[in-house]
Amino acid sequence: MQLSERVTKVRPSGVRKIFDLAAKVKNPINLSIGEPDFDIPDDIKEEGIRWIRAGFNKYTPSGGIPELREKIFHSLKGKGIICDDVIITAGATGGLLLSFLVTLDPGDEVIIPDPYFVLYEYQLLLLGAIPVLIDTYPDFSLKEEALRKAITEKTKAILVNSPNNPTGAVYSKQELEMVARVAREKNLLVLADDIYDKFIFEEGLQNNYLGQFYDKTLTISGFSKTWAMTGWRLGFVAGPKEIIQTMITNQQYVFSSVNSIAQKAGLFALDHNTDALIETYKKRRDLIYEGLQDKYEVVKPKGAYYIFPRVPGDDGDAFVEKALEKNLFVIPGSVFSRRKSHVRISFAASEENVLKGIEILRSMV
Ligand code: PMP
Repeated sequence: MQLSERVTKVRPSGVRKIFDLAAKVKNPINLSIGEPDFDIPDDIKEEGIRWIRAGFNKYTPSGGIPELREKIFHSLKGKGIICDDVIITAGATGGLLLSFLVTLDPGDEVIIPDPYFVLYEYQLLLLGAIPVLIDTYPDFSLKEEALRKAITEKTKAILVNSPNNPTGAVYSKQELEMVARVAREKNLLVLADDIYDKFIFEEGLQNNYLGQFYDKTLTISGFSKTWAMTGWRLGFVAGPKEIIQTMITNQQYVFSSVNSIAQKAGLFALDHNTDALIETYKKRRDLIYEGLQDKYEVVKPKGAYYIFPRVPGDDGDAFVEKALEKNLFVIPGSVFSRRKSHVRISFAASEENVLKGIEILRSMV
C-alpha cells in the first residue's frame, strides 16, 4: 500500500479501539457520546427543507454566503470579540484544519493544555506541526508558569478550548487574560475553540472570550453543539483579515465551499433560543456531579457536557473495560491526554441513562 510519510505519524484514534469493544456489548448505557442527545429543532429542519425546495443547491462562495458571514461577524462583535472577518467552514473541524494550514509550517509548535480534544493533535501531525502539551491536572486550570515554560523559539500558537472537552473546565477571565498577555508578549497566535460557549452552567463565566483580549486570535466555533447540527457540518472562524482571507483562498482548494443548505439553516438557527436546553444540561451536570463526588476524585464541570473523574488505580483504560462488563460505555482519559488516570463521561444522554450510569459508576468503587 502506498501511504505518505506524513500520514504514518497519525496514530488511529484511541476512540476506535474502545468503540470496537463497545460494539460487542448489547445496548450499553452510552455515556460516551460527544454530541447533543436531542434532535435539531423542527423549525430549523423546515428552514433547510425550504431552501432545498427553493433550489439553493449549488456551490456557494468559498468564504460562505455573505449574509451568514455578516450575521456571525456582528454577533461576535456584540460579544466584544476582536475580529475583522469571518469564514464559514465545514464544521469547527474544517475551521481548525484551515486555521492550522494557513498559519503553521512543518516543525512549528502549538501549545495545548492537556487534557485536550484529540483532533487538534492529529490535524497538527498531519501538517507536520508539533503539539506541545501542558499538563493541567489536577484542577484543569491554566497556569502561567507552565505556559511560559512550554514556549520555545519554534512556538507559533497557543490553542485554548473553553468550555473544555473532555474536562468541562471553563476558564476564568483572569486565565484568559493571562493567555492573551503571554501571547502578546511573545507575539504568538491564539486559537480559541469556543464551540461549547453556550454550555456554561455557572454565573459570571458566560461572557468571557479569549478573543476579547487579543487581536491575534482566531475564534473557532460552529453549529454542532448549540443546535445539535453535527451532521450538517457547519462552523466558522473569525479573526484578522489577512488570515481569514488566506483561509478563504485555500478553502477553495481544500473543501471548495460549504454545504449550501446548511448555511441557510444556520442563518435561521442563530435566532433560535437554546436557554431551556442548557437548563436541562445543567440539571444533568448537577445529577452526575452529586452522584459521583463522594466516591470519586472529581472536579465539578462548569461547562460543555462532560465530567472527567479520576478512577481507582489510575488506570482509565482498565476501568473502561470493567465498565463495559457492567454495560456502561465511557471513554478512557488516555484518548485525550498523556495521562490515563481519568475517564470521560458524557452527560449528553437522557436523564434515565445518566441515573443508570451513576448507579453503575458508584458500584465500581
Ligand atoms: N472542538 C471541540 C472541542 C469538539 O468537542 C468538537 C466536536 N466533538 C469539535 C471541535 C468539532 O465540531 P464540528 O462538528 O463543528 O466539526
